[in-house]
Amino acid sequence: MPWSDVLGHSEPIRRLKASAAAGRLGQAYAFLGPSGIGKRHCALAFAQALLCEQSDDHDLDACGVCSACQQVTARQHPDLLLVDLPPGKAEHPVSAFIGDKDERRRAGLCYEIALHPLLGRRKVALIDEAESLNEESANALLKTLEEPPAGAILILVVSGQERLLPTIRSRCQLLTFQPLPAPVLIELLRRNQESQAAEDLDSIATLAEGSLETARQLLEPELRRQRQSLYEQLSQPRFDSLQLAEFARGLVETASSARAGQRSHAGWVIRFCIEFYRQALLSLSRGTAPPGDFSQVTRFVQALTDRARNSAAAEGPLIDRTVDLLERCLLADRQIDANIAPAVCLESLFDDLGKTLRLPLV
Ligand SMILES: [Zn+2]
Repeated sequence: MPWSDVLGHSEPIRRLKASAAAGRLGQAYAFLGPSGIGKRHCALAFAQALLCEQSDDHDLDACGVCSACQQVTARQHPDLLLVDLPPGKAEHPVSAFIGDKDERRRAGLCYEIALHPLLGRRKVALIDEAESLNEESANALLKTLEEPPAGAILILVVSGQERLLPTIRSRCQLLTFQPLPAPVLIELLRRNQESQAAEDLDSIATLAEGSLETARQLLEPELRRQRQSLYEQLSQPRFDSLQLAEFARGLVETASSARAGQRSHAGWVIRFCIEFYRQALLSLSRGTAPPGDFSQVTRFVQALTDRARNSAAAEGPLIDRTVDLLERCLLADRQIDANIAPAVCLESLFDDLGKTLRLPLV
């Protein structure tokens, strides 16, 4: 994946190329930014440029076709060391860095990176989800970061940078990656032919907040169906808190029996609610209809407007009421992040939304 395969992230790429052109490539980099925006993809493009047979460290531009480039694309280059979080694990085991008990200091990244390169001009190491280094694995890696072997380059891919240990952070050059702008996200989804339904790509891109990973999840048919049925419930003029809490609990419980899965699914339910009321607010304040796949928002706005007309209320209270609903959802979003039980969080959310909706419009 030469740089031309990377969409977005022009600023960190420009900085890398500028330091290469000036002969000032560092030996340890931390690619920081939200998850799912393409940091790892960029790190692989960087690794490819560092190992390409046709490129040098001055122009840092992989040809994409030489055998080294192909081996990097296939993740099979012998001088590219990849450390991924083992499936289902929350932390990097120390054995990934210094070998397991039987092979202490005779295997693992810290050992292999000190060996002579087999094909290329250097060893390159890529450590994904480096925010999940525990103290023991971080300490093992620290020694290599303090005195990296000549020519070797380490790239740490970090989401949730506040969790990266300061000792590690201080030894890396930091490159910040921003969420992908919606047009770039849409282009990536189109390029990968991941969406047949082009009409709702705009709203998916908005909901995904710059993360390709999130956009892909949102395109999963089951989640799309659930989002639509939640909107259907929210648009009912006779908002039934109990029924909605029951419905949301069902969504969350069928999504996963594991607690972490339930939390993340409850997060989705809350984010969908936020998006619903945000669209309603835009529609009310601009007086325009929301985009194509928010027809339920139109129904909600209409029902609210009819109620206001019957009680002779002006437009202001409608907007204020919608802001209250939106703010309640934002509170739930903070609560779910703060580890409140998903069921409790959703139940009190829908209870409060119902109460807010039943207040008279004046
Ligand atoms: Zn090449």
